[in-house]
Parts: sequence; C-alpha cells; structure tokens
Amino acid sequence: MSSSNLVEQIKNTSKKTSKGNTIVITGGHTIISQFGPETQILRCPYCKHMAQTIVRPSAAVKTHLMSALLCMCCCWLCSCCPYLIQSCMDRSHYCGNCHSFLGKYRF
Ligand SMILES: [Zn+2]
Repeated sequence: MSSSNLVEQIKNTSKKTSKGNTIVITGGHTIISQFGPETQILRCPYCKHMAQTIVRPSAAVKTHLMSALLCMCCCWLCSCCPYLIQSCMDRSHYCGNCHSFLGKYRF
C-alpha cells in the first residue's frame, strides 16, 4: 500500500465530533486526540467495548495557583473555592467498562 493510499484511508476514517475532538480509527484502534470536560461515548482501545467514560476531577497546577492568588489578595476565606469548583480542575477520563485510563482534559 502506498503512503498516499494510507493517508487517504486515514482521512476517510477520521471523524470530527460535535465537541471538536478528532477521532482517528486505525487498525481497529481508536485514538482520541483531545478529551472534553464532559463524559464521552467511545470504543475503548483496551477492552474494545463501546462505553461511556467516567470523569474524575483532580487538582491541577492552575488550581493551586488560583488558590494561592486568592490567598495573596486577602481573600484567604475564598482560597478553597478552586478546589470545590469542578470547572477549575483537570478531568481524567476512564473507561466505563474496564476502568483503564484513556486521557485527560486539561483545565
Ligand atoms: Zn475499556
């Protein structure tokens, strides 16, 4: 198979989702280049099942910086807010079937 045929085949199997993620299906494996903040339905590359991802928030460097900034601005009572607001945290996506780590949405 020539490289131009392979490029054409990848173009035909690539899809853009409504959330702007690019899904490339190659040789039965699905590679998602970017995860969003919400759960997604996809074919897991490890267990091969169609499953909805499980999203777990985790504190990021920006979360700690926002908290430190609030502390320095004399709002030390509000410094815990970035840890309570999920939109201020990274979100790790795990397979809903086998619980394998699939990717991360960075805040
Ligand atoms: Zn899985």
